Amino acid sequence: MSQALASPAATPAIASVRVTATPLRESLFSDRLLSLGSENAFRIGPQIRELELQGHKIVKCNIGEPDFPLAKHIVDEIKRQLDADLTHYCDPQGILALREAIATTMSARRGLPITPDRVVVFPGGKPPIGLAQEAYCNPGDEVIYPSPGFPIYESFTAYVGAKPVPLHLREEAGFSFTGAELERLITDRTRLIYLNFPSNPTGGVATREQLEEIAQVILKKAPAHARIYSDEIYEDILFDGHEHFSIASVPGMAERTIIVSGVSKSFSWTGGRIGWAVFPTVEEAQAFKNLNINYFSCIPAYNQMGAAVALTSPQSAVEQAKMRAAFQERRDFMVEGLNAIPGITCRKPGGAFYLFPNISGLVENLGVIAAYEKLPAALQARTSPATLFQMFLLWRHHVATMDRRSFGRHGSEGLHYLRLSIATASADLRLGLERIRAAAGDHAGFQDFMQEGAHLC
Ligand code: PMP
Repeated sequence: MSQALASPAATPAIASVRVTATPLRESLFSDRLLSLGSENAFRIGPQIRELELQGHKIVKCNIGEPDFPLAKHIVDEIKRQLDADLTHYCDPQGILALREAIATTMSARRGLPITPDRVVVFPGGKPPIGLAQEAYCNPGDEVIYPSPGFPIYESFTAYVGAKPVPLHLREEAGFSFTGAELERLITDRTRLIYLNFPSNPTGGVATREQLEEIAQVILKKAPAHARIYSDEIYEDILFDGHEHFSIASVPGMAERTIIVSGVSKSFSWTGGRIGWAVFPTVEEAQAFKNLNINYFSCIPAYNQMGAAVALTSPQSAVEQAKMRAAFQERRDFMVEGLNAIPGITCRKPGGAFYLFPNISGLVENLGVIAAYEKLPAALQARTSPATLFQMFLLWRHHVATMDRRSFGRHGSEGLHYLRLSIATASADLRLGLERIRAAAGDHAGFQDFMQEGAHLC
């Protein structure tokens, strides 16, 4: 026992801390836990199951999960490693073979000298999002993130006591933003700036020129120890011949950028739970390795070996090309079909596998806005016109989609969008399109749905 803990003088101090740290409260959970947001694409699952148990076929456009099987060359490697009993604890930073594969492939694509000691492997691309806020933010520090954007960026801000600073992406600007728009949000308290291209939920892709402009603003205005969190998980899902470009490749940016990617989207392997981050320094990689040790020790080594093969085998490019072609074909007919429905306008995304149609006209025509305005204030705060239509679409027309609020709440009022994942079989998507068209004209059904009032948020 250390001298300080053993000394009698230390006892009263510890006791007094205990008394003040445990005030009586009603709630089982801590304020911190109660402030944590979520990802609604998962939370809607039980509602879908309830409807399926009632015998309905649900067209699932809610979750961002490629519908292709894991490629055989990757499956074979995992099986081989299981047979070799690679089933024990391993390096909490990620096994070296995988970190080497990551360093090599990420270096080549981005023109950067990435070394394996700056790479950390996580159980998916999601965990480093929250861990970064734990690692870099004190209460009161500011976190800038795109809105609409992947919900986990905003979800963690209250949990760590950081100030959420949404960077609003405007449809008119192709769901991108200018350097000047970002500049206005950066202060001395900025600690993290999340960027996500290709983007969830808009499918937006930033051009090299846009990223260079954004980088100049960051280099000029952001504190030197602020970190850019570049979420590049959709780097392989690009259409129309576009090539991926990372902000880390702009001179001066690699020193401040955390580059994140993983296997979930690139290799249609969401259940593999392998993602990774490249940190600007070895010191940061070591800090995140220690977070890994604290939270989960390590990630199944056999899957990591599968991921190394996914990254290095030439067969992977063949599989990815097939997947991209399918997504692009679905994008094209879905965008055309959605734009043919009165009240919906939908842009053609450059990447990822989501459509983000504007349903302003639809919610107006169908009487959704009027119905929303008649709701009691407490209920209004928990829903939105887009949410009402999303729920109507699910419960009465059996298409699962996501509403605008699911991609950043702050400042989402008055914005009427849905997100549809097109990582669903083409036949299902065509059925979904017909059902959306029917829902858009189903005035009587919508009035009845509101009257019933069972699923309004
Ligand atoms: N970032 C973004 C932008 C995503 O859309 C997702 C998954 N939908 C993730 C991270 C997390 O991916 P993973 O399944 O690898 O944790």
